[in-house]
Order: sequence, then C-alpha cells, then structure tokens
Amino acid sequence: MSVAENFRAIKSELDSVARDEKIILVAVTKNHGVELMREAIDAGATDIGENRVQEAAEKFPTLGRKVTRHLIGHLQTNKVKPAVKLFDLIQSVDSLHLAAALDKAAGQMQKVQDVLIQVNAAREAQKSGVLLEDLEPLIKFVDAAKNLRLRGLMMIAPNFSDVEECRPLFRQMRNLFDKLKTSRKDFDFLSMGMTHDYKIAVEEGANLVRIGTAIFGERLYSRV
Ligand SMILES: *Cc1c(COP(=O)(O)O)cnc(C)c1O
Repeated sequence: MSVAENFRAIKSELDSVARDEKIILVAVTKNHGVELMREAIDAGATDIGENRVQEAAEKFPTLGRKVTRHLIGHLQTNKVKPAVKLFDLIQSVDSLHLAAALDKAAGQMQKVQDVLIQVNAAREAQKSGVLLEDLEPLIKFVDAAKNLRLRGLMMIAPNFSDVEECRPLFRQMRNLFDKLKTSRKDFDFLSMGMTHDYKIAVEEGANLVRIGTAIFGERLYSRV
C-alpha cells in the first residue's frame, strides 16, 4: 500500500472511534525524506512529528502547506531556541531544567510555547520522561511559566513482547490525565500509542497517536 493509502486507512479507523473527543493522528516522518512527508500531507495529514531538531530544521522549510509540527524526541537544553522556532507542540518536556530553558527561549521570541510533559510511567531506566513522583513540581513550574502553555501529557510505552502488557499503563495515564484536566484549561492532549500499540492506546483513552512505520514503512537508518 502507498503512504496515502496507509495514512487514510489509519485516519478513518481513528475517525470511526465513537467518542466525544477527536483523535489526532501525528504522522511521524523521522528518518524519511521530504517526498514521503509531502505524500502524507497531500493525503490529508495535518500533524507531522519529528524526533530531532536538526532533522526538522532541514525538512520543515520544504513544507509548503501549514501543518502542525510536533517534537516527539528528547530535547537538549542547548537546542531549545531552534526547537521553539520550529515546533508548534513540544511533547517531550521532562525536567525543570528543560522547562526553564524553554520558557526563557520562548520569552525571548515572544512566543507562548505549547508543551506536553512526557511521563516515564513504566520507570524505564533508559527512557526519558519524568517519573510520576516528580510530576507535580514540574506541572507547577510549567503552569506558572509565562511563556509555556501546558497542553497535556505524553507517554512512550515499553516495547513489551506482548503488547497487551501496555494496557494498564495506558489506563493509568488516562486516569491521571482526567484528574489533571479537571483543574486546568487548554489541557487537551494525551499523546500515547505508536504503530505496534496505538489500537490499545486508543481503546484506553489516547487522543493523540504518533505513527511512523504503519504509514511510511520501515525506517532506513542511513538517512540521506
Ligand atoms: C519514532 C517514534 C514514534 C513512531 O514510531 P512507529 O513505531 O514507527 O510508529 C512515535 N513516538 C516517538 C516518541 C517516536 O520516537
């Protein structure tokens, strides 16, 4: 199947979920060339996700049309300026240090930067994301930051051999999201689910999924 067919199939699958909220499909174009990115946009993609600032800086200027641009990968504080310039939603805020740097950079550019806080719900040592016990101070900081707007939470599930094992984590995240949502405004997005686990994530309440492989095929790691 072509990129357009893949994209449309997943999009209509998500649109057919009977729920009050819309489910946003982010097409993850990392490690793919701009031609495939354009194919997805021509097929109706409104949201594009990249995991590296440098790669996005190379590819985004070629985007003719207006799409919403998501940073889904770990962000280092020395790259906050280009990140604020390039991305509409930075999904990977996971420390006070990074939040402070983003707030400052956004202030200098007179932008209010939309962000998600990335939660390391499974406590994986090698993964980024804030641990649940450190979430509250980070939320407080972002809530108070003048140039940041907290839009929700993001989570990357572990790569279990049995994907069903993700389900309790997704459910836990949705409960947390609902609880936080009651006391704040613009807190709209729960970003979880990738190619291998998005169906379960959506069943458990994700309203933003990040999908690469199922749209574009396997990634070639020798990107040109
Ligand atoms: C690469 C990536 C995805 C997409 O992964 P696929 O398995 O190709 O769908 C989603 N989220 C993050 C954070 C990623 O880095």
